[in-house]
Amino acid sequence: MEITESAAKRVQVVIVGGGFAGVAAIRTLRFSGVSCDITLVTKGERFEYFPALYKLVTGALAIEVSVPYTKMKGWGGVKVEKGIFTGVDRDQRRIRLEDGRELPYDYLVLALGSETNYFGIKGLAELSLSFKSVKEASRLKKHFCDVMSTAAGLPKNEAVVKLHTIIVGGGPSGVELAGDLTHYLRSLAKTMGVDPSLVTIDLIESAPRILAALPEAASRSAEKRLRTLGVNIYPNRAVAGQDIFSVSTGSMNFQSSTVIWTAGTKISDAFTAIPGASLSDKRRVTVNEFLALPDDSRVFIAGDGASTPKSGLAQTADYDGKYLGRTLARLIVGKRPSPYKPPRVSFVIPVGNYWALFVIGKRVFTGFLPWLLRSAADFRYFTSIVPLSYVFDVYRQGRKYRQSQTYCPLE
Ligand SMILES: Cc1cc2nc3c(=O)[nH]c(=O)nc-3n(C[C@H](O)[C@H](O)[C@H](O)COP(=O)(O)OP(=O)(O)OC[C@H]3O[C@@H](n4cnc5c(N)ncnc54)[C@H](O)[C@@H]3O)c2cc1C
Repeated sequence: MEITESAAKRVQVVIVGGGFAGVAAIRTLRFSGVSCDITLVTKGERFEYFPALYKLVTGALAIEVSVPYTKMKGWGGVKVEKGIFTGVDRDQRRIRLEDGRELPYDYLVLALGSETNYFGIKGLAELSLSFKSVKEASRLKKHFCDVMSTAAGLPKNEAVVKLHTIIVGGGPSGVELAGDLTHYLRSLAKTMGVDPSLVTIDLIESAPRILAALPEAASRSAEKRLRTLGVNIYPNRAVAGQDIFSVSTGSMNFQSSTVIWTAGTKISDAFTAIPGASLSDKRRVTVNEFLALPDDSRVFIAGDGASTPKSGLAQTADYDGKYLGRTLARLIVGKRPSPYKPPRVSFVIPVGNYWALFVIGKRVFTGFLPWLLRSAADFRYFTSIVPLSYVFDVYRQGRKYRQSQTYCPLE
């Protein structure tokens, strides 16, 4: 790798994307004590904690699942530029933003994450709902409030269709949402004078089992838990299309006014704006042993976008960010970085109140303790990025909001 930097000039590090990888890279580089200028370029004003977004749909506040960059601990001196990355001139070492601005860099980290993939299925993009951002999750929460208030005035046969929710995709996000939604929607129905027994939740999965990427024992436990909570599971059904009132899977038609698509993601389209970058057969950007582009030792890819063995997970993105923070700190002082080694990953998937699956290798644990483990991991993550006093303040506001008992006050 190219290593030397002139000591006379402060090195410019530009990190694009303020998600798990970007935030971890900034923290690690800042805390390394190495002198450099760090600029974060990102679309929004807040870091969004995707693993807890389902909680926003089912009653949490947006501030409980996202953090303004201005509140980040130890970010003094980090420049945050709101902007949309549209391209990079690798010869001139400048990135381009949608509003026409250009920013120079010595080292560039692209951590642009993923977006929803509808696989070109007819009607889905326009008609289905999603919760892959705070904005989408808030919209879904409002949608459920509207559904409930409309259902309150409908005859039973029409209310049943109105209160029918279809979740497409039996991966971790679909399973987590289905588990939490049963309790939430029934409580909401009671609060709004609707018969809770009219609420139906279906989970549709194209693979022969839900949580298909995890061991079979995990799928069996999750299925049993979801059925106990009252969720209907339909494996082996690939969605073929959606119109306003129904979803077709080829063999069946489901009538509903709420279809939630959790089944597909693809890396952010903005990654295609890197000239000369190639995609691996996993449809992620090919990187070398330092997570850099194979032909450019100054441009790094982190998180979902990088073609690494465990990409597509928050824990990998956080790990990648920390690795790149250390790598950049070494490069800036003229030292050779260590090659990247993929992380060991485990999964904790909450399914309804106080119950979760913990999967490590082929071993699966279920119940309250895994749920506690997940809550502790979420808490640990938040306290690592923001001051403890901020975490407690947000917790107090969330508790007050939920104690209001009205469930549908919009923020
Ligand atoms: C609903 C949901 C639940 C999930 N649950 C889990 C879970 O329980 N466990 C787990 O391990 N993983 C989970 N994941 C996956 C995990 O969130 C991702 O793997 C992780 O967020 C990837 O981190 P990243 O830094 O690569 O990208 P992200 O965290 O997505 O961050 C990307 C950032 O780039 C910004 N950006 C994108 N395009 C541009 C652009 N053109 N210009 C400027 N900025 C841009 C975005 O605004 C964002 O700030 C979940 C994902 C979702 C959607």
